[in-house]
Amino acid sequence: MWRASILTLYPEMFPGPLGVSLSGEALATGTWALETRNIRDFGQGRHRSVDDTPAGGGPGMVIRADVLAQAIDALGDDGRPRLLMSPRGLPLQQAHVRALAAGDGAVIVCGRFEGIDQRVIEARGLTEVSIGDYVLSGGELGAMVLIDACVRLLPGVMGGATSGDEESFENGLLEYPHYTRPLTFEDRAIPDILRSGHHKNIAAWRRSEAEALTRERRPDLWAAYEARQPPPKKKR
Ligand code: SAH
Repeated sequence: MWRASILTLYPEMFPGPLGVSLSGEALATGTWALETRNIRDFGQGRHRSVDDTPAGGGPGMVIRADVLAQAIDALGDDGRPRLLMSPRGLPLQQAHVRALAAGDGAVIVCGRFEGIDQRVIEARGLTEVSIGDYVLSGGELGAMVLIDACVRLLPGVMGGATSGDEESFENGLLEYPHYTRPLTFEDRAIPDILRSGHHKNIAAWRRSEAEALTRERRPDLWAAYEARQPPPKKKR
């Protein structure tokens, strides 16, 4: 069973959105498991203090290395990757999600305040993971994003088993546009080709739409995609 263990100061945020729809059903039926640990349980003194002022000065508070290390150690080490949600981390991509989903799960540390003491990142081998180039107030929403992306890839979670293959990013392209009934919506018809029943032409149309969208919206993805294509055949 795929297991997510979350270290957080706000365990009440979980399962939150992970408790509904696909991920919620998969949680209820035991396809994956979620465990939260409150970092505060390992806090110090009467106030269960977990943070302190930054060495060297500056604004905010920093989560203590000793407190967080104890919380991590209490989970034991079963070989699952230990991740730290962090804007400094490797920006999360579908390939990472796929690799994580193929494993046993993850231990995910959610930062708060200014962040956490650098020494525990090093001492406990935390891999920093970012969900994008913006700053959240805590790692919890990031952890949910990461878990949601993984859980939907677990066997049996998505209805149409193959609906993942052609999705955005899976083949290096953004996904083609979708349509469904009604046939005409405010004078806009569904493209004829999608009603032709000609599967080969439909696949070719979708591919070219996906390519056009990617070229237009994501020059970074497009360049990588083009670089991976076989060189064009020589014209005679
Ligand atoms: N001072 C830090 C930001 C701290 S935000 C900095 O400038 O880098 C507080 C916590 O929110 C972080 O410890 C991290 O766990 C989480 N967080 C914020 N932005 C994030 C992002 N883009 N991806 C993942 N986690 C993020």
